[in-house]
Amino acid sequence: MKILVINAGSSSLKYQLINMETEEAIAKGGCERIGIAGGKLTHKAHGETFVVEQDLPTHTDAISLVLKMLVDQKAGVISSMDEIDAVGHRVVASGEAFKKTTLVDERAMELMEEIKDLAPLHNPAAILGVNACRAVMPGKKMALVFDTSFHQTMPDHAKLYAIDYEDYKKYQVRRYGAHGTSHKFVAGEAARYLKRDIKELKIVTCHLGNGSSISAVKGGVCIDTSMGFTPLAGVPMGTRSGDIDVAAIDYLCEKKGMTMQEGLTYLNKKCGVLGVSGVSSDFRDLEAAKAAGNGRAALALDMFNYSCKKYVGAYSAAMGGLDVIVFTAGIGENTPAVRKAVTDGLEYLGVKLDDEKNALKNDGTIHDLSAQDSKVKILVIPTNEELVIARETAALC
Ligand code: AMP
Repeated sequence: MKILVINAGSSSLKYQLINMETEEAIAKGGCERIGIAGGKLTHKAHGETFVVEQDLPTHTDAISLVLKMLVDQKAGVISSMDEIDAVGHRVVASGEAFKKTTLVDERAMELMEEIKDLAPLHNPAAILGVNACRAVMPGKKMALVFDTSFHQTMPDHAKLYAIDYEDYKKYQVRRYGAHGTSHKFVAGEAARYLKRDIKELKIVTCHLGNGSSISAVKGGVCIDTSMGFTPLAGVPMGTRSGDIDVAAIDYLCEKKGMTMQEGLTYLNKKCGVLGVSGVSSDFRDLEAAKAAGNGRAALALDMFNYSCKKYVGAYSAAMGGLDVIVFTAGIGENTPAVRKAVTDGLEYLGVKLDDEKNALKNDGTIHDLSAQDSKVKILVIPTNEELVIARETAALC
């Protein structure tokens, strides 16, 4: 069985064709500058990279080019589109409209239209991606896989905000979380790697990348997560502030002469470690700046690490214990100093990092970084969100 995974952005589209027998991507790539002059497709297959430069006025043009590459004599990996059994689409926000992976049909697409506003940059793009695939591959089975699904198990006391309950019911304003496919994947991988039943484990999964979120996974289900109604909440991120007193936003808007919309753009794009450091949103740059004596870069890193550590502590309390901490995504997989700072001082919880193992370079495989006498396992697990989307799609289609 072969599943095509599509992750559509407003002007970009990433794809992977996954062979479900081996669970490996046999081709992957992306289209850039859709709807803007200078479109480009980068396609990787057979250990080679193929680049096509051509204008891609619409997402349908982009999907058409992707399919052309997949069946191309040289760059292709299948002989015809019939070899694609189903298509899985990544969708960022589901609201209350979808609790789990859902087959694409007219009703599902009507609901997708209704929840566009929940992720104004991402959800409309997902609709474009689905419609483009339906135009180019009519009749092909497709599934909508939501970043939020894994968090649907959160109990009310964790997912609700302390606002008027009637407003929650009417407007569905509550914590939804994000990166659900990643949290689900690494929690499952942790149990598999440790040869333990996930139902017996209390796991904190730290997805630390340009966007970061931390989840409490107890008995295999998510009971809390750091992102909120939108991905702006939780720990400070590359350019996002993370948690902030909402009254401070009103105050900042007034002082800086920003509308609420501009204020939100500011919090999403100009804050986080970029805002604090004034250097970069990239942790590699921050570490280099800190090493060169930049105090604000050091402060940004300290704030990030401190916030992550607080979530690990909070979620240990929420779960009534801790068996595993998982680090994943760009920072989690590649930045020993962050893992060290986040786990440092948690010895009282039974967390003890092995400094030598922590210093090892990421090789794309799972590593156990815990000291021999650590009660809590500390794992680095490369995430694979596309594989979760493919698995969910295969299970449904
Ligand atoms: P992600 O959003 O998961 O792609 O993570 C991206 C972030 O990971 C970057 O902005 C960097 O701050 C951080 N990072 C640190 N080291 C690496 C690395 N070797 N490769 C990729 N990302 C890295």
